Amino acid sequence: MLSICVFCGSKSGDRPEYAEAAEELGRSLARHGHQLVYGGGSTGIMGLLADAVLIGGGRVIGVITEHLARPELMHVGVSDMRITRDMHARKSLMHSLADVYVILPGGFGTMEEFFEAVTWAQLELHERPVLLLNVAGLYDGLVRMMDDMVVHGFLSQRCRALVTVCEHSEELWRELTRIADRG
Ligand code: AMP
Repeated sequence: MLSICVFCGSKSGDRPEYAEAAEELGRSLARHGHQLVYGGGSTGIMGLLADAVLIGGGRVIGVITEHLARPELMHVGVSDMRITRDMHARKSLMHSLADVYVILPGGFGTMEEFFEAVTWAQLELHERPVLLLNVAGLYDGLVRMMDDMVVHGFLSQRCRALVTVCEHSEELWRELTRIADRG
């Protein structure tokens, strides 16, 4: 069983593919008995993902701060909701619960969480895989930026390789299965 920490948007975006990818991941995760760790929200991709895991009978841990723990933002269907004092404590708890990180479509919040996970991997503070799902090319610009950082000498190939970019849900699932099998 993997504990999969998913960082994703509190909005759903403008294309159905974004929601579909989140729901597909949630269903697969539940079906294979993996656990979801996520930001505890009820809105956008976050809410859709948690709903899909719960409907599939899977286990969800939400980690949310006191200031976001309001009925209109927090997912009331998640029974294991951990409420932290601030964002630092929240992320620290999410990291401690994670075996692997998955990045789905999102905005600033998602990017901040992605870059923290990958920066800490770069600093060898953890060895957890970081998988980025490039749904409908949303992250094409980000992938190009990372590759440019290598070309221009700001990022080593070794550190660039810490991010696995998956173009499709099947590819993401193959990676997760490989990680689960590795133990
Ligand atoms: P964004 O990608 O900017 O939509 O932000 C997503 C991230 O922001 C989440 O993973 C959370 O850290 C935080 N966040 C924003 N809105 C909420 C919410 N309603 N509930 C929980 N976390 C949220």
